[in-house]
Amino acid sequence: FNVPTPINEPVKGYAPGSPERIELIKTLKELKQLERDIPMYIGGQQVRTGNTQRISPPHDHQHTLGHFHEGDASHVHQAIEAALAARTQWAELPWEHRASIFLKAADLLAGPYRARMNAATMLGQSKNAFQAEIDAACELIDFFRFNAYFMQEIYRQQPESMPGMWNRLEQRPLEGFVFALTPFNFTSIAGNLPTSVAMMGNTVVWKPAYTQIYSAQVLMELFQEAGVPDGVINLIYVDGPVAGDIIFSHPDFAGIHFTGSTGVFQNIWKTIGQNIHQYRSYPRIVGETGGKDFILAHHSAHPRQVATAITRGAFEFQGQKCSAASRAYIPSNIWDEVKGYLQADLKSIKMGDVEDFSNFVNAVISEVSFDKLARYIDAAKADEGVEIIAGGGHDKSKGYFIEPTIIVTKDPKYVTMCDELFGPVITLYVYDSQEFEKILDVVDGTSPYALTGAIFSQDRYAIDLASKKLVHAAGNFYINDKPTGAVVGQQPFGGARASGTNDKAGSMLNLLRWVSPRAIKETF
Ligand code: GLU
Repeated sequence: FNVPTPINEPVKGYAPGSPERIELIKTLKELKQLERDIPMYIGGQQVRTGNTQRISPPHDHQHTLGHFHEGDASHVHQAIEAALAARTQWAELPWEHRASIFLKAADLLAGPYRARMNAATMLGQSKNAFQAEIDAACELIDFFRFNAYFMQEIYRQQPESMPGMWNRLEQRPLEGFVFALTPFNFTSIAGNLPTSVAMMGNTVVWKPAYTQIYSAQVLMELFQEAGVPDGVINLIYVDGPVAGDIIFSHPDFAGIHFTGSTGVFQNIWKTIGQNIHQYRSYPRIVGETGGKDFILAHHSAHPRQVATAITRGAFEFQGQKCSAASRAYIPSNIWDEVKGYLQADLKSIKMGDVEDFSNFVNAVISEVSFDKLARYIDAAKADEGVEIIAGGGHDKSKGYFIEPTIIVTKDPKYVTMCDELFGPVITLYVYDSQEFEKILDVVDGTSPYALTGAIFSQDRYAIDLASKKLVHAAGNFYINDKPTGAVVGQQPFGGARASGTNDKAGSMLNLLRWVSPRAIKETF
């Protein structure tokens, strides 16, 4: 058995009249008419508590998509027990079988599940068809196929043996269960965090963000159909602190695979530190957290390129990618041109629901997020030191709509240059074109985060200088391209500093965190 050398799943175009568009429209209609009853999944069993919460599309909060059954402390205990009960058999299954399950999941998602996974992501997370396709379909298919391939590489790497001696490396799964805590913004990440851990022979308790449960259930159905055995991945919807108290004090807690906010991750790390004496092993702590991602233009940059990077990098999926550009530094010599392009771009893009495929921008994820963004925008409107050159409007009467907003500040440390807003708002600082070296220090020193960043320049010396000076400012660094849209196997994704442990998603490095090698020496 050889895992096929993976190639990235081709992105479908959804052109008007294309078969994929027709199927997606049909699936959206079907899902909208169905009020889904969404159970938890523990030990392969569907669990209904009767304590239900309504799910609605962020762009149409009066519409009901379904209800999910919320669990309590008892379900956390049950999920841990189910994961521990499934552990030995799963860990002992030859790795080729585990690989084949996830290769099947990739094929199912590329085929029969594609429309439903995209439609669920569009409705549940307010993501347009094109953004759903690169996430819920292509990126997750890539995660499955590339991880299966990397896994094979890991198992095949063996040390040298000598005459009279046989050395080998046994990649043991961790001794316990792993907790996957997943975000709303990428269905692919919600799918990848539990499965990459499971691939390496571990069993998992998976708690998605409440705002992603609608597509999480489709993921769970996919895993089951692909053949993930009962108890290997247990999906629960339980309040964070309730789940955390039980999980982080359990002796068999072996690791956490996390994507979410910096604050939550830091608290989890502290709790794990406080409880460290209770665990059998040092837990693996792997997390991708916040960002304050930048675009920096040099005076040699092409204004049209810079403006496109801002429009796409800051506003696709309403700026709710961890990688989204949220601060930009534009040299004074090209500012007028960049500004002209930006204002024209933002005039031409449309905002609305996901069923109209011409909408570039949809709603932000929740009322909490909407209110936070509206507060920052209103404060900027009232501040005489800053100017809003596009957008600034917001309206939550039907859905949580925030207009793509561009703030221009004269203070490179203005609050929206520093705080992570996680929405369609970018702040620009126009600097003296002759002061490129100085601005590099500003870019590096403004934020504690270091996830993504982009430099635009036609001058090779400037590119080199920026790469060197900003060496720790971004885990994913883009030269003449927007800072979003990393592709599995091409640009492994993750950042350091306050942005995470940088155990690149969809890489061998990441998979190695989920095994504990035993080196064996045998003489004869
Ligand atoms: N990998 C995504 C990108 O490059 C971002 C992932 C995230 O938001 O966590 O745009």
